[in-house]
Amino acid sequence: KFDKDFGQHILKNPGISDAIVEKAYLKPTDVVVEVGPGTGNITVRALEKAKKVIAIELDPRMGAEVTKRVQGTPLARKLEVILGDVIKMPEIPPCDALISNTPYQISSPLIFKMLSMPNPPRVAVLMFQREFAKRLVAQPGDALYSRLSVNVNFWASCRHIMKVGKQNFKPPPKVESDVVRIEPLIGSARPNIAFEEFDGLLRIVFNRKNKTLRAAFAPKEVLAMCERNYKVYCSLNNIPIDESIPDPTTAADVDMEQQADTEMDVDVDVEGEEWTGLDNNDNPIEEDDDEEEDEDMPAFFKELNSATDQSKDNKTPSRNPKSKVALVVRAKVAKVLAAAGLADKRARQCDQNDFLKLLLAFHDEGIHFS
Ligand code: SAM
Repeated sequence: KFDKDFGQHILKNPGISDAIVEKAYLKPTDVVVEVGPGTGNITVRALEKAKKVIAIELDPRMGAEVTKRVQGTPLARKLEVILGDVIKMPEIPPCDALISNTPYQISSPLIFKMLSMPNPPRVAVLMFQREFAKRLVAQPGDALYSRLSVNVNFWASCRHIMKVGKQNFKPPPKVESDVVRIEPLIGSARPNIAFEEFDGLLRIVFNRKNKTLRAAFAPKEVLAMCERNYKVYCSLNNIPIDESIPDPTTAADVDMEQQADTEMDVDVDVEGEEWTGLDNNDNPIEEDDDEEEDEDMPAFFKELNSATDQSKDNKTPSRNPKSKVALVVRAKVAKVLAAAGLADKRARQCDQNDFLKLLLAFHDEGIHFS
């Protein structure tokens, strides 16, 4: 009867449904969005407390079940059922509270979708698989610390509410679950930066979270993206593209630091930690140990100089495949990392203030990530 592909594990313990709704501290004026109402165990309790519940359900059979459950009762007029995939919707409908016994396949995209809302709900009470819930509250240095952990703790605060054993569901899932309470920062408390910018930076650094930040920025595709965005930024803001050669003193400093890093940039096993290898979507990946892409700064400065010489001599067509802008962007990236004192740090050790400081320093240089 229940479809595992839809993550259907129905709560059979009414005490847990009660606790989820209770921990949202709903007001009679609240609009609640519930993701995946299923047969309506949580929905009916939320309907009793709130002004309105918008229930978004992928499975039409379940949509019919929850509608039938309240039919002919005073709760019926407070319920709106939307059939569809919440992740594919352009946005989560505006609401005061978000609740869900979350289908495990959409845990990560649902959180990102909520955090990126310009006006997120006041509170979210969500059930997740235990491993996922642990990642939400992971701190710098923890094995489970990831792009997800940083985003949640930057845009919101997150608390563990309770453990829920698998015997509380029908059918029981393979793993245990946890309920968390997330309070997004709203109004003037919300950081005044674009979600996509902050997350764009995190995608880069957590793609190689055990490498130094310098190494995280070394891959060609990362630098190419920085260059593209730099050009767009300059043209949108009518700023002439900065083609100035980096200050030689700064360059020398960077060069020296780079050489030190070449020796130091080995993966360090932190005691008691396991390498979890999470990719951008927080799925496990093999660690990329390809050192080739790590920046070779002395060669870089040679390239920069030769590009500069060629551009001075208009008669000689440039045979250098790298544009001068690409080299300038590389120098800007190296300069920002060194000036922030973060070039030798690894993403897994940095906290949200480090990432914010870094983002603002990149913005000062016209480098953007979305
Ligand atoms: N809320 C019910 C409960 O606690 O008993 C059912 C929870 S069950 C874990 C997850 C529900 O989410 C299922 O009804 C499933 O059909 C629905 N669902 C799965 N993927 C979805 C999606 N992408 N968008 C909306 N609903 C989804």
